[in-house]
Amino acid sequence: MASVFSKIISKEIPCYQIAEDKDFIAFLDINPNSIGHSLCVPKIETDHFLDLDKNIYDKLMSFSRNVALAIKEVVECKKIGMSIIGLEVPHVHVHLIPISNMEDMQFINKVKLSHEEFELLAKKISTTYILFNSI
Ligand code: AMP
Repeated sequence: MASVFSKIISKEIPCYQIAEDKDFIAFLDINPNSIGHSLCVPKIETDHFLDLDKNIYDKLMSFSRNVALAIKEVVECKKIGMSIIGLEVPHVHVHLIPISNMEDMQFINKVKLSHEEFELLAKKISTTYILFNSI
């Protein structure tokens, strides 16, 4: 069965998209640790990052860096934390989490955003991503 992220990639279910290229998509995490918490996902469905083709893994890191630069520009934070977990969704995804302290990386404290807030945030990050990556 296709993962929830494959369904997002095929547009079967919606997401708050912030970036996309031929191999990857990035969107806001629906249950974020902090404002701007995002996921970068390879379009080819693979459960564990160690099973990714090395070239796709390298490209995923590069794509995630570009997305993180856009998030950092839009969201006030000390740093962007990065982690790969995958215990809930068996489809590789890089968590990019704006952090101001260690607790922001712990997946315990969550922030709630309205649909309108998610939409506005996604628009700001995607506009910045496009700006940073145009030529
Ligand atoms: P994990 O697989 O443990 O790395 O966690 C999966 C992450 O995906 C969690 O942070 C969820 O909030 C997030 N998530 C699950 N479904 C969706 C969705 N439809 N849209 C955005 N984020 C999602």
